[in-house]
Amino acid sequence: MIKQHICTAINNEHASLVFDEDYQQWQLTLLTLATEDDLENNNQLENVGDIIDQIVLPVNFCPYCGEKLQNNSKQPATYVYHDFSHW
Ligand SMILES: [Zn+2]
Repeated sequence: MIKQHICTAINNEHASLVFDEDYQQWQLTLLTLATEDDLENNNQLENVGDIIDQIVLPVNFCPYCGEKLQNNSKQPATYVYHDFSHW
């Protein structure tokens, strides 16, 4: 079962806060999706809405409402960045 922080303060439709069971930590995921302009400027992108990049940040608090999130992680915080705009 996916544990997700449902938050009315999140004003970015491409942001989500989900608890990752493998890493035992809350992760904020932010996506950048392609627009018409992006398609004109990058021939690697094919459709509006394609993922240009994604960043995953471990968090202990919701950055939108400030609520403390339950976190059992003893691991140091690391982030992951994927750039899909070229390969
Ligand atoms: Zn929140």
